[in-house]
Amino acid sequence: MDSSLKTQFQEIVGASNVIDDPTLYGPYTDDFTDHYKSVPLAVIRPASTEEVSRLVKLCAEKAIPIIAQGGNTNLTGSASTTEPGKEILISMTRMKKLLSADPASDTMTVQAGMTLEEVHEKAESINRFFPLSFAAEGNATIGGCCACNAGGVAVLRYGTTRELVLGLEVVLPDGRIFNGLRRLRKDNTGYDFKDLFIGSEGTLGIITAVVLKLYPIPQQKETAFVSLDNPKKANELLNRAKLIAGSSLSAFELISELPIGRVAKYLPDVEVPKLTASPWKVLIELSLEHPTKDSVLEKLLESAFENDEILDAVIAQSVGDAKTFWHVRESIPLADRTAGGSIHSDISLPISSIPQFIEETSAKLKEAFPWLGLSIYGHLGDGNLHFNFVSPQDPKLTYQFENQIRDILYGEVNKFEGSISAEHGIGMLKLEHNYQFKEPLEIELMRKIKQAIDPKSIMNPGKLLKQ
Ligand SMILES: Cc1cc2nc3c(=O)[nH]c(=O)nc-3n(C[C@H](O)[C@H](O)[C@H](O)COP(=O)(O)OP(=O)(O)OC[C@H]3O[C@@H](n4cnc5c(N)ncnc54)[C@H](O)[C@@H]3O)c2cc1C
Repeated sequence: MDSSLKTQFQEIVGASNVIDDPTLYGPYTDDFTDHYKSVPLAVIRPASTEEVSRLVKLCAEKAIPIIAQGGNTNLTGSASTTEPGKEILISMTRMKKLLSADPASDTMTVQAGMTLEEVHEKAESINRFFPLSFAAEGNATIGGCCACNAGGVAVLRYGTTRELVLGLEVVLPDGRIFNGLRRLRKDNTGYDFKDLFIGSEGTLGIITAVVLKLYPIPQQKETAFVSLDNPKKANELLNRAKLIAGSSLSAFELISELPIGRVAKYLPDVEVPKLTASPWKVLIELSLEHPTKDSVLEKLLESAFENDEILDAVIAQSVGDAKTFWHVRESIPLADRTAGGSIHSDISLPISSIPQFIEETSAKLKEAFPWLGLSIYGHLGDGNLHFNFVSPQDPKLTYQFENQIRDILYGEVNKFEGSISAEHGIGMLKLEHNYQFKEPLEIELMRKIKQAIDPKSIMNPGKLLKQ
């Protein structure tokens, strides 16, 4: 990097927080999916909103493109560079302070670089609960969750990030600070900019602080691993669970045989519950705000058993058991990685169509690629599946046919009136397919908004929208 530019950056964040030695880039440039390897101009690590604002002003003056980065756990290439040596990566990971807590309003305001796991701990320290949760929570930041509108395993009960955020502070592409850190549940004064920045994948500004909506800590959790014959039975069980458990139903995860087999094979330390052999499993959890004398989950499973919906079930007898069950579900991405990788997706469908979708799409894919392994799992309760692909013989074979496989998958998603992204977003990975399937008018409006807020297109160019 040009030495005078480097000095200017160093004056803002301190010498040790401007990294331009590629041997020190490690986690900033290595993408979780191994699809993208970033080559930035530098990695810069600010510690405050003011520093972010000064950095952005300088970059805007010099027309240097900026990529905001949290934990770099995205699965779409959204925090990776597009052109070698052109963009700076602004890592938010030093910005992890609790700014204020207001338990009486059930809110907490944190800097955007706090990890999701740290957010959980801070909420617990004021006797509250923040429900957003998924396997990468040890590294994913709350700013990254906002930028991607992350989902996870508790959406069924609490909603996506969008529903869990009340206010945002954002550094705009010209360096000005948008202060929307409001703790209000109702604010009907015009366009909702908070909702515009949520899900914008860093293309409209850098989120620097977030007001989070908190909940009472559930007093009782009931968790079970269930075996059943097919996704139709899973849908019937889901309906029954909604009727019997009502709003306490907090997670309903469908898992096919293949990913469970891979966890058992590649991660032998992970304990897989022993159940009647069956092609599908469901992990179900209830979160009750008040303890009940009789188990709601037992009642639900008994009723499902009597109606031939399930083959077998094991109910967690302790917090440890429940953790073991969740560990199986959350180890699937790591098992895939250990096995040599997978093509992953995060499609969304009307829940009622999922059984037919799985049947027809699996048949189409198997016809085109008989060797393809289908690793299907996900948040059935939200209509969100990870319909992933592996090649048992040669792990890299799937990558050779990635585009054709995605063409078939997304064509079917479109036919069933679904979305190609439920929670991971678009990034670079799904850019072409998003243009193919999204309404042209929606793309046009997105482009106009981008142009209005970021006319020089310096914020994460080439993600979400084509350059
Ligand atoms: C094992 C594993 C499991 C996962 N499970 C789930 C899941 O169940 N549900 C789910 O939704 N996701 C899941 N993900 C995806 C990922 O963890 C989420 O998308 C997460 O929100 C990304 O957060 P991050 O801090 O790592 O963001 P990054 O990866 O660093 O960035 C992602 C995007 O956000 C932008 N960004 C980051 N920080 C900011 C900021 N402060 N301001 C503006 N833009 C910013 C980046 O520019 C980029 O566009 C999983 C990932 C892994 C590796």
